[in-house]
Amino acid sequence: MIPRFSYSRPRSLGDAFHAHAATDGEGAYVVGGTELLQVMKMGLAQFRTLIDLKGIAELHGIEVLADGTLRIGACTTHRQIERSPIVAASLPGLAELELHLANVRVRNQGTIGGNLAFAEPHSDPATFLLACDARVELASPAGRRTVAIDEFVLGPLYTSREPEEILTAVLVPPAGKGGGRGYAKAKFFERPAVAVGVALTVVDRVVVSARVSLGSITEVPMLVPAAAAGLVGAAADPASLAAAARIAAASAFADLDAVDDLNGAADYKRHLAGVLIQQAALAALTEATPHA
Ligand SMILES: Cc1cc2nc3c(=O)[nH]c(=O)nc-3n(C[C@H](O)[C@H](O)[C@H](O)COP(=O)(O)OP(=O)(O)OC[C@H]3O[C@@H](n4cnc5c(N)ncnc54)[C@H](O)[C@@H]3O)c2cc1C
Repeated sequence: MIPRFSYSRPRSLGDAFHAHAATDGEGAYVVGGTELLQVMKMGLAQFRTLIDLKGIAELHGIEVLADGTLRIGACTTHRQIERSPIVAASLPGLAELELHLANVRVRNQGTIGGNLAFAEPHSDPATFLLACDARVELASPAGRRTVAIDEFVLGPLYTSREPEEILTAVLVPPAGKGGGRGYAKAKFFERPAVAVGVALTVVDRVVVSARVSLGSITEVPMLVPAAAAGLVGAAADPASLAAAARIAAASAFADLDAVDDLNGAADYKRHLAGVLIQQAALAALTEATPHA
């Protein structure tokens, strides 16, 4: 049973800040409620007031800005992202990720902003967006700021968002010429057990830059620069890139502080990460070299 709470549905950011200030620290923002209401039902947190952000028009919508940045409003549902032609064209790996996130009921209700703001350690979007060098946009009565994903998600259920701040959008830079982004995960239950994101750029059939992110294996999604360095210089063909990814993972993932949990032992998860980095790198290569 959830204890009684009051509910408001502001139509603007200003009204939402006002409603939040009026709660004296006893209020929380809510959108799909797929995480927050569970937490309240289990008695892990209680709020006297829930401020529903869904009625604020500027928190919805998907667009590509003039500089090629993909901007996804925080209240966009997973299902809307999965089915968006704009996402399919500019960040196909995210559309694919969303198709395999949770189940259709959660995807219809849950939002990208809620996923990142909750900072559950088994978040698919946080891992992939970290590899993509994405940022979140936050608004408060004091103004707006943008924060890189690794400076936003700081620990399990812990972010750098101030209580009154509203996550307004996710901003993903374009891959650029010769760029591609890929994601791969293994899952045994609802959420990923291990996940890997790879972003790379190919020039003259050689990988010239890369970012590798790992998720679910540690308490917070993380970049692994040593694994990324192992991809740079690889020939941009599937066999060479897979071999480079295998070798890079063997050394870069060996000392990872992986967590033993219901998804498996730390060693097994490190092994899975070594397989998944090859899949994610090949998906990125396919986007980077579509006509190869
Ligand atoms: C059965 C199940 C399976 C799942 N499987 C997966 C999975 O495979 N992969 C995965 O990545 N995720 C998974 N999830 C998590 C799912 O993605 C999230 O539950 C969902 O995206 C959260 O969005 P929401 O709008 O429902 O957030 P809410 O529950 O409404 O809010 C979550 C938290 O974020 C805060 N918040 C929400 N929006 C904002 C905002 N705009 N600004 C500031 N604060 C905000 C709230 O105050 C709250 O603390 C699963 C969830 C369930 C229930």
